[in-house]
Amino acid sequence: MSAGILIVGAGQAGVMTAEALRAGGYNGAITLLGDETHGPYHRPPLSKAWLAGEMDAAQLAMRAPEMLARKQIELRTGVSVIAIDRAAQTVQLADGSALSYEGLVLATGSTPRALPLPGGGAPGVLALRSKDDASAIAERMTACIEQDRPVVVIGGGFIGLEVAATARKKGLKVTVLEAAPRLLGRVLAPVLSDWYAELHRSHGVQLMLGAQVAGIEADARGVTGVKLADGNVVPAGLVVVGIGVIANDQLAKAAGLECDRGIVVDACGHTSDPRIVAAGDCTARRLAGGSLLRLESVQNATEQGKSAAAALLGQERPFIATPWFWSDQYDRKLQMAGLSMGADGWAVRGDIAAGTGFSVYHFQGARLIAVDSVNAAKDHLQARKLLDAGVSPTRDQAGDTSFDLASLLTT
Ligand code: FAD
Repeated sequence: MSAGILIVGAGQAGVMTAEALRAGGYNGAITLLGDETHGPYHRPPLSKAWLAGEMDAAQLAMRAPEMLARKQIELRTGVSVIAIDRAAQTVQLADGSALSYEGLVLATGSTPRALPLPGGGAPGVLALRSKDDASAIAERMTACIEQDRPVVVIGGGFIGLEVAATARKKGLKVTVLEAAPRLLGRVLAPVLSDWYAELHRSHGVQLMLGAQVAGIEADARGVTGVKLADGNVVPAGLVVVGIGVIANDQLAKAAGLECDRGIVVDACGHTSDPRIVAAGDCTARRLAGGSLLRLESVQNATEQGKSAAAALLGQERPFIATPWFWSDQYDRKLQMAGLSMGADGWAVRGDIAAGTGFSVYHFQGARLIAVDSVNAAKDHLQARKLLDAGVSPTRDQAGDTSFDLASLLTT
């Protein structure tokens, strides 16, 4: 039995919550329970530098075990929580034991959506979420290089496109199949979707937009190709499926907490049980207007973790900052600030044709709601300031590099 605060999930949100609890003066026991065999590590490099073989294990690690120990945070890996008894304030572990808590943090992350098609479970059809997934993909990529077999990525979202870029870096033949008419259609302006399509094509990726996948073809070695609805088969020695994630809210749901495609939390991380908070990919945050927002990003996991810790300490620390995200593909860094859903107009600042550094400003009416910057870190930082301050340039000002947007912040 253990008193104190239990944190289910030793990822970004779990670690951030644990550290924020200590920093906030919590003196009781803090136990991080993670079902992976690895200690906490950074997930973003799994599709980028780690998959490319350009990063070592020490760089991937989020915290060395000694660092957590110094903060008296007990890390238990390979431990799966299978149930919560809210009345008894205990959690049940897969090994049959139980732990008690005075406060419980759910930071269980998300799971890649499986390909719901014939052959979707064939060997060599892989998704990318964990370090083990990345190792399996890297191993299969090596086999594809040796056997001169191509890679197919299903899903032109961030993870799929990052994997495609990394595979090209390794010299693999790559096809990306995207069902929608454009890449990253839900988050990027059309002009930036087109730019990304061109970027991938110029790096040798075969891009098939509007592709309808009908199934996976396989033989004894595993996957051999992806069958399309029109009957064509795209050959593959490896298929990486990147078609989104599902929040890990099963534990919370079974315990009777409010869930709606994620554990429903307020801006402070409270769930519908005052002793239980939640943070990160597993959550759906209730916004002021009542709608729910699901974000899957390092910033969200970090900030919600800090808010959740504060909530357990009886403080209010709402996470209301401008959301931001990044993605690395080839030598281009995309940095996104704000949420672009509902945009009805755009302005481009900088030379998008040259592609050397530019930003796309998203407007809803006259209001600036988001800015996506490519190799333009200065624009990104300034965008976050504008959005935090609720200051909108006009579209003409946003698109005019001779206009100093910083001047809007000082008046
Ligand atoms: P996770 O980091 O997934 O941690 C949850 C942990 O809980 C996992 O280890 C899980 O195994 C464990 N767990 C689940 N259920 C249980 C249980 N019952 N018992 C015990 N343990 C359990 N974000 C960015 O902002 N920028 C990027 O460039 C970027 N790139 C990414 C690239 C990849 C390949 C991936 C997979 C993600 C990327 N992300 C990126 C997203 C970002 O990594 C996630 O949003 C973030 O890791 C979420 O943190 P989390 O703590 O909520 O979940």
